[in-house]
Amino acid sequence: MSGPSALGDWRQAVIAKQWIVGLVGGLVLLGVVMRSEAEVMIWRSDHVKVSYEGIDESQAAAIGGVVEAARDAAIERYGVDLPDTITVSVTCNGRQRVRLFTDGHDRITLTLRRKQDLNRPSASGIFNLYGLCHEVGHIAMYRTLKERRWMSHAAAEGWAHYMGSHLVDMVYDKLGDDGWCDPYDYRVDGTKRLEAQWRMDGVRQPTVEGAELWHQLVGLIGDKQVPVLFKAWQETKVDPTDPGAALRKTLVGLYDDEKIAKWWNGAESRLVVVRPASAFAVRTAKKSEMLNRPVKVIHDDGKPAGKRSIAGSGHAVTFESPGADWYLTQVRVHGSRYGHPRPPAEDFRVTLCDADGKTIREFTYPYARFARGTPRWVVLPIEPTEVPNRFVVSVDFNPTGTRGVFVSHDAESDGPSSTGLPGRKFARFANGDWLINISLDQHKSADALKPAP
Ligand SMILES: [Zn+2]
Repeated sequence: MSGPSALGDWRQAVIAKQWIVGLVGGLVLLGVVMRSEAEVMIWRSDHVKVSYEGIDESQAAAIGGVVEAARDAAIERYGVDLPDTITVSVTCNGRQRVRLFTDGHDRITLTLRRKQDLNRPSASGIFNLYGLCHEVGHIAMYRTLKERRWMSHAAAEGWAHYMGSHLVDMVYDKLGDDGWCDPYDYRVDGTKRLEAQWRMDGVRQPTVEGAELWHQLVGLIGDKQVPVLFKAWQETKVDPTDPGAALRKTLVGLYDDEKIAKWWNGAESRLVVVRPASAFAVRTAKKSEMLNRPVKVIHDDGKPAGKRSIAGSGHAVTFESPGADWYLTQVRVHGSRYGHPRPPAEDFRVTLCDADGKTIREFTYPYARFARGTPRWVVLPIEPTEVPNRFVVSVDFNPTGTRGVFVSHDAESDGPSSTGLPGRKFARFANGDWLINISLDQHKSADALKPAP
């Protein structure tokens, strides 16, 4: 394993049920263990808490020390917002893969197979110290720039690679060789490695290219402007069919500098994802204009057999309308929320797409619609919106390992369920049909038996 993505990426990972159950189980266990003898141990410093099992205390201390130093360095240099306490949870057993990911808020999770996975990269093949700095880089961006569906994978990972590489150097300045439990001069994993990747011939990894674009921008605006720009972009309302226009406007509004505008012109196509709008015209109607004879369209059998939350993706079902002039009026989703007892103050999305997955119209609802505990049907009213003959309803919670909604699915897939996000290709979900179904209604004017006066 080598390269910036060797440690995995939570955005791509399917958060399977077992995984969360494991995590929640781990937290429950933690409460118990702190009172009796330790299986899960705790290491603490001023701003970092490491809960660990299956590794040595010295290894946990190195992990915590690196995250503490990286947090300090990121705040000192960039002035970014980082949590008062970053929690790192480390588990180590032969039943799992080596993975490292963050919830983008205040938590980093590291799973290891054996203690030796924490040895220096030349011995283990795993860039743990860099990886921890990389995750701090993600948190530094994601806490401020929460609404970033416009961002390409290269932009998100490139940022973590860029900032993480710098943090490695700064951690070294603070802690030296002994900063890692298997001491070595880890500056080779920092900007030295990054710059060598930039000099390399041949086709570049998108992450390496993204890191170079961010490097160029930060060079132009200055380190301390990073959180200023992220905040301004967070507050920018973007049109998913052309996010670049609004983002560019915000950028050049902040920095009246030709070089920065030029940078954007070159960078936009690589940092921004455009979600094409459907050619099917958006036509809405008032509720009172409906016949009020809703027809339920249901592919699932109503019996939950499993549940999923999919990071970096969503749940979609393809439907057909009984004919012309039908309007979507309701979407029902069977599921339950996981994470903190208090629901996040964020919205999730329901998107009506055409058969090609292009967006016709987007609807948002507060996360709080879903309760924790036993999954149940959540009914989402829709402003009546006309549907084409064949269309897709997509539900997207932008979930992480510690915050999201498990959507139920039944035991057998009849084919119409898929995973993915609007504007990208939906992939067939083979494990069952999502318990997502809809109601359609007709416009009064469509009722041939009651012609409009
Ligand atoms: Zn990453």
